[in-house]
Amino acid sequence: MIQFQNVSKYFNQGTPIVKALDLTINKGEFFILIGPSGSGKTTTLKMINRLIDLSEGTLLINGKKISDYDIHELRWNIGYVLQQIALFPHMTIAENIAIVPEMKKWDKEKIDERVNELMKLVGLEPNIYGQRKPRELSGGQQQRIGVIRALAADPEIIIMDEPFSALDPISREKLQDDILTLQKTIKKTIVFVTHDMQEALKLGDRIAIMKDGEIVQVGTPDELVYHPANDFVSSFIGKTEPMLRIADFDLELLLSQPESLTPIGVGMETLSVNSSLERTLQVLFEHEQISIERDGEIIGVLHRQTMLQYVLNELRMRVGNVNE
Ligand code: ADP
Ligand code: MG
Repeated sequence: MIQFQNVSKYFNQGTPIVKALDLTINKGEFFILIGPSGSGKTTTLKMINRLIDLSEGTLLINGKKISDYDIHELRWNIGYVLQQIALFPHMTIAENIAIVPEMKKWDKEKIDERVNELMKLVGLEPNIYGQRKPRELSGGQQQRIGVIRALAADPEIIIMDEPFSALDPISREKLQDDILTLQKTIKKTIVFVTHDMQEALKLGDRIAIMKDGEIVQVGTPDELVYHPANDFVSSFIGKTEPMLRIADFDLELLLSQPESLTPIGVGMETLSVNSSLERTLQVLFEHEQISIERDGEIIGVLHRQTMLQYVLNELRMRVGNVNE
C-alpha cells in the first residue's frame, strides 16, 4: 500500500508542482495517474522511489515512511518502466533483464530461470531472443523487455511513466493487453502514468485525474465516465467511449467441457484462459467456438453464445446501477 499524506513538492522555493496530495493506492491495484502535460504526474511518480525528494508531507509504503527505508532496497523493490526504451545497448536481452537480480546477488541458476520464465510470459522465446542485443528487436519487443525487466526481482510495486506512448498503435494495444494479462497472474501494485484516456479506462482499476499539481477526481473508470466531478473531468474524458470492461472477468467460469479433447492447434482456435475480455471477443467474432488452454493443456470450450449471454447480463446490471 502506498499512502501520500499531504505531500507537496516545489523546486527552489518556487510554486508547488504537487500540492498537498492525499492519496492511497491499495496493494494489488492497477492505479492510473492521468492529466495534461505539466500537471505533476512524473513528479508524483518519482517521489515514490525517491528519484525526487518530497518537500512536505509524508509518503508511506506499507505503513513505513519512505525516508526510513534504505534507498537501494527501496529502489530495487520498486520496478520502474520509462517511456523511452531504456535497455543497455551493449548488453544482451537476458543480461538486461538480469540487472536487478544480479545486484541483489541472486545465484546464477535462479537468475537464468527467472529470465526464461519472464520472457516466456510475454511470448518472447528465450532461446531465440535472450542472446540478442536490444537493437535486433522491434520497438514493441524492446518495451516488452523493459516491462519484464522491471518485474525481474519480483518487486511488490511497479511504477510506469507513459511506458507505451512511444509505440505505434498496434504494438501499443498489444502491450496493453499483455500487461492486463500479466497483472492477472502477478497481482502487483502498479502505478501507471499516461495522458491517454482510452488507455487509462482500459487498464485502470482506479484512475486519478491531475491538474496543476492537484487531484481533481479519483475513481473507477465507470465512476469517471458516468459521474465526472466537474467540467474539466468531462472534457478530459471527452468523447472517449468507455471500453467494455468487466473487472472480475474470468474466462474459466464460462467454459463447457468439450465433447472430445483435441490437442492444441487441431481444428479449433485456441486462447489462453488468461486472455483479456477484448481479445476473447475479437476471436469469438470470427469463430463460433474456441478452445481454452492453461499451461498448454485444453481445459474447455467457449461458445460465442455463452459469451454473448454473459456480456449482456453484465451490461444489464451496469445500466441498472447507473440509473440508481
Ligand atoms: P507531467 O509528468 O504531468 O507532464 P511533471 O511532473 O514532469 O509533469 O512536471 C510538472 C511541472 O514541474 C512542470 O511544469 C515542470 O516544468 C516542473 N518541473 C519538473 N521538474 C522540475 C525541476 N527539476 N525543476 C523545476 N521545475 C520542474
Ligand atoms: Mg511526465
